[in-house]
Amino acid sequence: MKERGEIAILGGGPAGLAVGYYARKAGIPFTIYEASGRVGGNCVTFEHGDFFFDSGAHRFHDKDAPATEEIKKLLGSELKKINIHSQIFDRGKFVDFPLSPLNLLRNLGLFTFLKAAFEVIGLRIWSGNHHKGRKKKESQANFESFALQTYGPTLARRFLLNYSEKLWGIPCGKLSPDIAGKRMKGLNLKTFIKEALLGSKAKTEHLDGSFYYPDRGIGNICDKLARFCGPENIRTQAALTGVFHDNRRVCAIEINGREKINLWKGAEVSRVVSTLSINVLLHIMKPAPPEEILQLVRSLRYRHVILVAFLLKKDRVTKAATIYFPEKDFVFSRLYEPKSRSSFMAPKDKTSLVMEIPCRPEVSLWQMEDDGLTRQVLSQLLKTGLIKKDDIIDKLVFRMKDAYPVLAAGYKEKVEKILNYLQTFENLAISGRNGKFVYSHLHDMMVFAREIINHIDSDMGS
Ligand SMILES: Cc1cc2nc3c(=O)[nH]c(=O)nc-3n(C[C@H](O)[C@H](O)[C@H](O)COP(=O)(O)OP(=O)(O)OC[C@H]3O[C@@H](n4cnc5c(N)ncnc54)[C@H](O)[C@@H]3O)c2cc1C
Repeated sequence: MKERGEIAILGGGPAGLAVGYYARKAGIPFTIYEASGRVGGNCVTFEHGDFFFDSGAHRFHDKDAPATEEIKKLLGSELKKINIHSQIFDRGKFVDFPLSPLNLLRNLGLFTFLKAAFEVIGLRIWSGNHHKGRKKKESQANFESFALQTYGPTLARRFLLNYSEKLWGIPCGKLSPDIAGKRMKGLNLKTFIKEALLGSKAKTEHLDGSFYYPDRGIGNICDKLARFCGPENIRTQAALTGVFHDNRRVCAIEINGREKINLWKGAEVSRVVSTLSINVLLHIMKPAPPEEILQLVRSLRYRHVILVAFLLKKDRVTKAATIYFPEKDFVFSRLYEPKSRSSFMAPKDKTSLVMEIPCRPEVSLWQMEDDGLTRQVLSQLLKTGLIKKDDIIDKLVFRMKDAYPVLAAGYKEKVEKILNYLQTFENLAISGRNGKFVYSHLHDMMVFAREIINHIDSDMGS
């Protein structure tokens, strides 16, 4: 049994805070090192007077029961279960999302609906009877073939492919099927028939419209995690600039280019959990990792997101949780109204809308001045009829770096090689969305952290 040392947690986003949370529960000492002035990373709630905005349309998914239980314990009555569906803005109409047969029939018209339904049903029968293994393999090659084979050309082209290209920034033929997630699982033959027979009663069973949300915005989850970790265990304005190793273990870390912290003190075993983007971690490792690994990490891409918010002098705009915009005429991929998640997010008789613009750092949108950006978004938003120009009180722009790891086809093999290399360090564990380069969410951060701390705890002995 090894002696109990401290854990150095690199990064104070949800992933790092979750590791601190479980470490504190297990009684293991730790320090979280965070580069910026506040914790929460890409999961914070911004404040502007009486208005509050999340860093993107967040919701806490109830997908891992123990993670949900921990968050419920932390937030108590401040965490609410929300039941609202989303929509897709399609050719001037608001279509339910996830897609549902009866709503599609209403919005697409009988001819297009029947075409789409026959395609979906035909594909199910075909894939059930013929070449099951081979067909599955072909459809899993990239997101485009997956979407076409699963939902048929009509639905896939209209609702999935354009939107995914906008969000991820590369053609769907070059995207991994992993970007689909589980949100489209309700669109199958069984739900088509069930909903046709039972109507909206059946619809609610498969729509992904149910989630948890804190009264004071999603950032409150990170705030509560940070409070549990204890301020004495969190160092902000502490950017990792060096991770020193002897090819077997991490021996020291360097903060802000000047402070070196040794991790090996006598017999004490110190652990490192990195939640930094793998490209950041690999580039600050000293000595540098093998060139083959650096080349792989250089080929990975991240997507930034710009948020454009309008503060409005009207009580509410929409009942949807999120509205998606697949059409290329709109520069934003989706919008949300913070007040539809919690009334706390805007003052009485006022509300706000937040538009998300995914983009690459090198393109002009990311560098565009706020005024030009808000003008462009406003002229497009007015076409939807959701608001009038006179409703606007103020406008704000927020920029979020590395919001999504781009899951290009073939990314898995590359990431596996990089993570295998990092696994050779006996006191290093990896967590986080960009750390593990996986399309993951808050509850996943809790799961990753729980597994890491369980492992460290059993290795060190309680
Ligand atoms: C637009 C958007 C919508 C989302 N919607 C949802 C949702 O609905 N539900 C959900 O569950 N999740 C959602 N997420 C995902 C959720 O926010 C992420 O899971 C989470 O932000 C990833 O956490 P992380 O800690 O891995 O990374 P980050 O949040 O990126 O945190 C990384 C932290 O590391 C710090 N850091 C970086 N470099 C250094 C350095 N050199 N030294 C020290 N610190 C450093 C950063 O400042 C940051 O605080 C969404 C994310 C985005 C962007």
